[in-house]
Amino acid sequence: MGTKAREIVGVDVAKVVEMLNKAFADEWLAYYQYWLGAKVAAGPMKDAVITELVQHAGDELRHAEMITRRVIQLGGVPLVSPQEWFKYTNCGYDGPNDSFVRKILQQNIEGEQCAISVYNNIIQEVGMKDIVTYNMASQILQDEVEHEEDLQALLEDLGVILDK
Ligand code: FE
Ligand code: FE
Ligand code: MG
Repeated sequence: MGTKAREIVGVDVAKVVEMLNKAFADEWLAYYQYWLGAKVAAGPMKDAVITELVQHAGDELRHAEMITRRVIQLGGVPLVSPQEWFKYTNCGYDGPNDSFVRKILQQNIEGEQCAISVYNNIIQEVGMKDIVTYNMASQILQDEVEHEEDLQALLEDLGVILDK
């Protein structure tokens, strides 16, 4: 990052980098959870569910890219090894070992709810003292809010079919 760009960051940079790296681990695990979920999902409305899972996987990968760019700008080092994902993650990984669409939706809704808290915390932490990180985290938060909404809508539609 340029010297002026670093000078205007009014927060503990190491702390922000750590928070971003934890979110970075979450994004990769979320990406994989969605990506694999989309491969194995089975049951009613499977096509609609798979379409959504594939879109969300793409969004999570894009989030990982946004975060790693900011980590590097801040002079930090993005997590080097996938083994570190499990050490750093806030939200963990909940693999699709049950391929039924309802179960997969529920697992991913939990993940989104965790992600919403993570980005909300980052936003609270940096506030107006690091506007670039603030903007990035709020863009990602908007996506996560939409993800939760989309998955809950699918779960509701599924409920109409299954709970009759
Ligand atoms: Fe994400
Ligand atoms: Fe998401
Ligand atoms: Mg969506």
